[in-house]
Amino acid sequence: MLSGWREVMARRPWRLSAKLLIISSVVTVIGFSAICVNVMLDMRRGEEALARQMLENLATTIESDVSRNIEIYDLSLKAVASNMLLPEIATVSRAVRHLILFDHATTARHFGAIQVFDADGRLTIDASTLDPLPANRSEEDYFKNHRDNPNTGLFISRPMLFRGAYSIVLSRRISDTDGGFLGVVAGSIRFSYFHELFERLNLDPQDTITVLKRDRTIMMRRPFDLDVIGKNLGTQQSWKPDNLKAGGSYAGQGPVDATPRLYVRSTGAGPMFVVAGKPLNAVFELWQKEAYRIGAVVVALILFMLASTLVLAREIGRRAEAERKLEEMATTDALTGLKNRRKFDQVIDVEWRRAVRQNTPVALLMIDADHFKAYNDTFGHQAGDQVLVGIAICISDSVRRAGDCAARYGGEEFAVLLPGTSVTDAFKVAETIRGKVQGWSDAQATSTVSCGIASLVPTAGMDWPLLVSAADKALYAAKAGGRNQSVVASLPTLSLVA
Ligand code: GH3
Ligand code: MG
Ligand code: MG
Repeated sequence: MLSGWREVMARRPWRLSAKLLIISSVVTVIGFSAICVNVMLDMRRGEEALARQMLENLATTIESDVSRNIEIYDLSLKAVASNMLLPEIATVSRAVRHLILFDHATTARHFGAIQVFDADGRLTIDASTLDPLPANRSEEDYFKNHRDNPNTGLFISRPMLFRGAYSIVLSRRISDTDGGFLGVVAGSIRFSYFHELFERLNLDPQDTITVLKRDRTIMMRRPFDLDVIGKNLGTQQSWKPDNLKAGGSYAGQGPVDATPRLYVRSTGAGPMFVVAGKPLNAVFELWQKEAYRIGAVVVALILFMLASTLVLAREIGRRAEAERKLEEMATTDALTGLKNRRKFDQVIDVEWRRAVRQNTPVALLMIDADHFKAYNDTFGHQAGDQVLVGIAICISDSVRRAGDCAARYGGEEFAVLLPGTSVTDAFKVAETIRGKVQGWSDAQATSTVSCGIASLVPTAGMDWPLLVSAADKALYAAKAGGRNQSVVASLPTLSLVA
């Protein structure tokens, strides 16, 4: 197995290195691509984390501003609700009552004037005027809610038109000391407050800010759309509360429009919460540009690498072919196509040592054309060459086992090495060759060969020239014996294999 591998290495050194080159290139390309993809994904995650942090800060900042304003306004409502219980309120003049009730009341551009309604919903006191016009709010949600439920606390209404402006109404119940319903105190925060708040922020047109009540009613949204305001997301199947928990984020289509965004919810626990959204393509815009740029460079590098690998591999292949041809030329006899003497010496050396190791026989045939000088003289040198080619064909036809080596040993002399072959089998091979030459030359010309055969199991300390000279001697004996015959060497001192 190992020796086979070594032979392949020896025969095709370049072919193998071409394969190694291609494999190492492919492995490098795969490894390099994997690293690049990993780095890009890391960059993408980084961009997303950055955007999420920015949106969370934004949402939480807006939420705390809204909560603080609601809290301040609620303090005024509470003050009015508790002051209404003072017994003096009924006795003092309207102007003094105003001073008592609304002296500390918050007045700001976006806060509507605080109004007090009696138990029947009639407007009794208005912070903006001493003589309020008659009005009745007994049908309003906030009024009914306080009337029917003493524990409502601060009630934040759905967005509505309130005194000519879109507002959110904040209200509290006025209860007597026994919890009896005396009326409602209500105020409003106009949408202009949110508009101004959002304008102060540096937002892209596609960015969204949604202010929602805890029950997930949309109180305000940027970009402003009246159709969306007041909708309750709790009714939307597609938008489950789990999509956005406090401080959480969600990437994908939101409940209002189809643009996929990264939505982040504020972390606070006020009466309202805020969801800030940024389109995903804006979040990943920079990353995408960078990814395309790096991707293009990487693809170009990979293509360049693969192209140069292919060119190199082809070059290696060409060299391997040239090398193979050169080696063939260096080891082959040009006239007959058999191995040359140089190659034969190498092969017999290797096989001899193997036979010593494995304790197996090595047989050698020495084959010589008979009266070849005379043939040349009669038919010419070229015709002689053709005969040599014919003899070579007869030899290679008879010697087919892997490991056998047929070589042109000298001018008109051939050597056939048969590893692992006994003298009897070697004799048979010699006779086959001789018979073939005779049969062939009968038809073409009158040429015959003589064969000397030697076979032995070599031991350590023996050298292969011993086998050559034994076969040579046998060849001489065949010549002396009348030619066109095979003779086995007698090796009385050696361990002959019969
Ligand atoms: P023997 O039967 O005793 O072997 O007689 P021989 O004539 O074959 O032996 P010898 O050694 O006297 O002659 C060998 C001849 O082989 C000499 C040479 O002309 C011829 N010869 C050697 N090499 C070549 C070759 O490559 N081509 C041709 N045509 N003839 C060759
Ligand atoms: Mg001869
Ligand atoms: Mg000769």
